[in-house]
Amino acid sequence: MMENVIEFFKNLPPKTCITCGKEIEEQHECYSNKCDECNII
Ligand SMILES: [Zn+2]
Repeated sequence: MMENVIEFFKNLPPKTCITCGKEIEEQHECYSNKCDECNII
């Protein structure tokens, strides 16, 4: 059953920054839709 969950997340499209469109890497406790650079602003 766990494998199905893993496959589900692997098939998710990469999260992208809503400001610059850059792909956002998995971040801990980060619920923002912006990348690091855009988050600074
Ligand atoms: Zn950005």
